[in-house]
Amino acid sequence: MSGIGTVAVLGAGTMGHGIAQVSAAVGCEVRLYDIDDAAVGRGLARIRGNLDAGIERGKVTEAERDDVLARLSGTTFIADAVVGADLVIEAAPESMELKERIFAEVDAAAPEHAILATNTSSLSIARIASAVKDPSRFVGMHFFNPVHIMKLVEVVWGPETSATTRDAAVAFATRLGKEPIVVRDAPGFASSRLGIVLGMEAIRMVEQEVASPEDIDKAMELGYRHPMGPLRLTDLVGLDVRLGIAEYLHATLGSDAFEPPALLRRMVAEGRLGKKSGQGFYSW
Ligand code: NAD
Repeated sequence: MSGIGTVAVLGAGTMGHGIAQVSAAVGCEVRLYDIDDAAVGRGLARIRGNLDAGIERGKVTEAERDDVLARLSGTTFIADAVVGADLVIEAAPESMELKERIFAEVDAAAPEHAILATNTSSLSIARIASAVKDPSRFVGMHFFNPVHIMKLVEVVWGPETSATTRDAAVAFATRLGKEPIVVRDAPGFASSRLGIVLGMEAIRMVEQEVASPEDIDKAMELGYRHPMGPLRLTDLVGLDVRLGIAEYLHATLGSDAFEPPALLRRMVAEGRLGKKSGQGFYSW
């Protein structure tokens, strides 16, 4: 379908609030759903905070902020969020069971023309799509954190996703000012599959005392022009999160390149999770 005017975003956390913000910024009416009023309120407050920071940096005007906020509404009922929506983007926690349950409810209440998208960073699009009657309208739209700043969107098409749905997701990401890439529904898509290999190998190099974390990161930053080395990135994402993805890719793709090093397991067991715990490969 063309002309996405109303967007429902399910989950108002780290990713959902950002997806709601960028959708409202291009003129869509946006309904932001979460499980309780406090979570919805936190999501809306984060959007306001992002916009206020934009005003301070001279990137957003007060009128633009007010327009974006006026196009946003919050709800704790999925049916209210998705009724009349042209596009539904789910950004709830990374659990297959939860996403299947959400999409069964969405399927019953969303218009038949609506495109149904998940922001999953790792789960099978085909399997989540099996929760809806018509999987041809189901697609992955994998945004990156922070959504209002990061340019990449992985548009992930499952075996039953139609070309029309895939193209509409690409067009919407482009309208948001993002750079979409089109990826088949394979474990780790394009970004995690490559990123995790680099991260795991960097940790193995620390383990084998090849060089310090700082110098391993510098090798990639100065030698390969990565904006951030793989160990600092692991600290930012969270060692526990990266361990979970590595275990999943190791199990599904089989390659030893994804095998989590013992050092990573030990650091996670000791609560050294990176930036969020204050200690990882760096002190924060
Ligand atoms: P988060 O924990 O910050 O936010 C999740 C939100 O979902 C919370 O506000 C929570 O209250 C809400 N929620 C809980 N149960 C729900 C339900 N039944 N229905 C709707 N919402 C519910 O998580 P996040 O980091 O925003 O991740 C959301 C999704 O985006 C996950 O699938 C994750 O894998 C993916 N993702 C995350 C990142 C990242 O860097 N954080 C990047 C790309 C993709």
